Amino acid sequence: MRQLGRQAGSALTQTRTVPAPDDLRLELIEVPAGADVALEVRFEAVSEGVLATGTAIAPLAGECARCLTPLTSSVTVGFQELYLYAEGRHDKHEKYDKHDEQEEQDDEGLYHLDGDLLDLEPAFRDAVVLALPMSPLCREDCPGLCAECGVPLADAGPGHRHDAAVDPRWAALQQLSEQGDDEHQDRRTSAIDLQEG
Ligand SMILES: [Zn+2]
Ligand SMILES: [Zn+2]
Repeated sequence: MRQLGRQAGSALTQTRTVPAPDDLRLELIEVPAGADVALEVRFEAVSEGVLATGTAIAPLAGECARCLTPLTSSVTVGFQELYLYAEGRHDKHEKYDKHDEQEEQDDEGLYHLDGDLLDLEPAFRDAVVLALPMSPLCREDCPGLCAECGVPLADAGPGHRHDAAVDPRWAALQQLSEQGDDEHQDRRTSAIDLQEG
């Protein structure tokens, strides 16, 4: 941050890869702790401090809400935070997100420059948590699991279905009629052949 002067308008963009912080997760998806997060932040000197505008790309790991297949993905978030110079505290600024607990409580929830060091993690964390999907899907049209047997329908194919369970008293009748069914079966097969040809 030392390269960035205090003259309003001077700006500096930094890109770096940082390890993801802990506890960035919802029920079905998370940013794995320590995973590489690609960060690009533009720092701009404004009259009362430094405006940080960031973009982060974070990897995601979780499972599909419909079929429970493990999935990986990524999320891109933008965030912005104003960091005030310590001597530039005013009352007129509107409230920003909640502050680090260890900071004093008289600062209206604003972030402050700690020397030249900016802590971007709270802003990044808030943006990511908002962007995490409540119901992540392995693909947009995931058909989910078969309600009958639990196999992923995407694997089982569109023809997957279950005939209603046959009452044992009817099973004998079904056997008797199987010979008659063979004829239908043959006709159905040739019909499919015609369609595909
Ligand atoms: Zn799925
Ligand atoms: Zn099934």
